[in-house]
Amino acid sequence: MISVEEALEHILRHFKPLEPEEVEILEALDRVLAEDVYSDVDIPPFANSAMDGYAVRAADTAGAGRENPVTLRVVADVAAGHVTEARVEPGTTIRIMTGAPLPEGADAVIRVEDTGDWARSHRERGREPATQVEIYHAAEPGEHVRPAGEDIRQGELVLPKGTLIRAQEIGVLASLGRSTVSVIRRPRVAILATGDELLTIDEPVRPGKIRNSNEYSNAALVQRYGGIPIRLGIARDSVEDLTAKINEGLAQRVDLFLTSAGVSVGDYDVVKDVLNAEGEMHFWQVRMKPGKPLAFGLIRGVPLIGLPGNPVSSMVSFEQFVRPAMLVMEGKTRLAKPTVEAILEEDVTNSGRRHFVRVIVERREGQYYARTTGGQGSGVLTSMVKANGLAIIPEGVELVKAGERVAVQMLDWPENVEI
Ligand code: AMP
Ligand code: MG
Repeated sequence: MISVEEALEHILRHFKPLEPEEVEILEALDRVLAEDVYSDVDIPPFANSAMDGYAVRAADTAGAGRENPVTLRVVADVAAGHVTEARVEPGTTIRIMTGAPLPEGADAVIRVEDTGDWARSHRERGREPATQVEIYHAAEPGEHVRPAGEDIRQGELVLPKGTLIRAQEIGVLASLGRSTVSVIRRPRVAILATGDELLTIDEPVRPGKIRNSNEYSNAALVQRYGGIPIRLGIARDSVEDLTAKINEGLAQRVDLFLTSAGVSVGDYDVVKDVLNAEGEMHFWQVRMKPGKPLAFGLIRGVPLIGLPGNPVSSMVSFEQFVRPAMLVMEGKTRLAKPTVEAILEEDVTNSGRRHFVRVIVERREGQYYARTTGGQGSGVLTSMVKANGLAIIPEGVELVKAGERVAVQMLDWPENVEI
């Protein structure tokens, strides 16, 4: 039986980044840029005021202070979005708002708090612009001025190909006037549940039957990791039904095919038979717990991962193998789950395989602690609901004692843990 690393390495050899597509910039969130983005403008495009106050010639304010103010004549008023024809000549000033273009002649801005204007009431200021103003501060040239091109220079490479797009990159694209951008397309992932025991979500429970939850947890994980789930519903454990559903999925130009269940040792061999007949399977098991049954192969050229049927095993295997494969297709390079070192708060015994133990991680006094969610049955999906991490007990280790340190893969980080 191969190790988790061997399985992952083998699987990842069959994936590469997908092609780019042009999308609206808000559709680019959490995706990878597929073009170099240059600026054809300076940003800001003109020198402007960083403060509400007075545009001055710095030289005119030399030596000014609260005790010995300089008085300047106010010749105009300029708000953001407007330009003034007036110039700041020696001995004069222009009242200016944040973001308004710096008038000609001026080389600095005095904050309104550093002028006699500040003492006047808002009502007074609004109604009747002062004709002169006392300056209480000696400005340096350039003070409170945002020069043209301070943020971005015309011709500059602003966002290189390969950048992961976050909110700030979307803001920059908007400021460059880019309404669309080229990003790696999302992977299309087929999801097929298999099993005679499965009911659809809205069927009433019947003897011997359970609801198909894996289709939904898998689809949610596909969405969470940036893919498009193509849900194929349930295939019954029959050659005809399985073959038909597989063909239906392949017809939808999928980049990855996920099946659920039917690949463990004790299973009636129908899923395995059909996968062997329709595709070329490479392995069926991985040395881990939960999640020992895990199939991988190619089905008419499309990579297929056969996830175990047990709901917890399915999710744990998804995190270990499907997530990294999806990230590679999305052009992402950081494939590892965020992992912290935590002190175990109870003894954990192990079977000898790599064991992923569902835990609750908490931070206390600068240190992470992990306790198990209780029952570790691979059918107990609520143990995943309680968990925010998977503690990794290495192969060959039979017992980890309370107080010892373990690596914990964080399931949701940092949303659910105090950093
Ligand atoms: P199998 O891998 O087919 O042996 O299934 C292992 C366990 O997972 C069995 O108890 C199945 O009933 C259960 N199971 C299989 N498919 C699903 C599914 N889609 N949703 C929830 N449980 C499932
Ligand atoms: Mg089964």
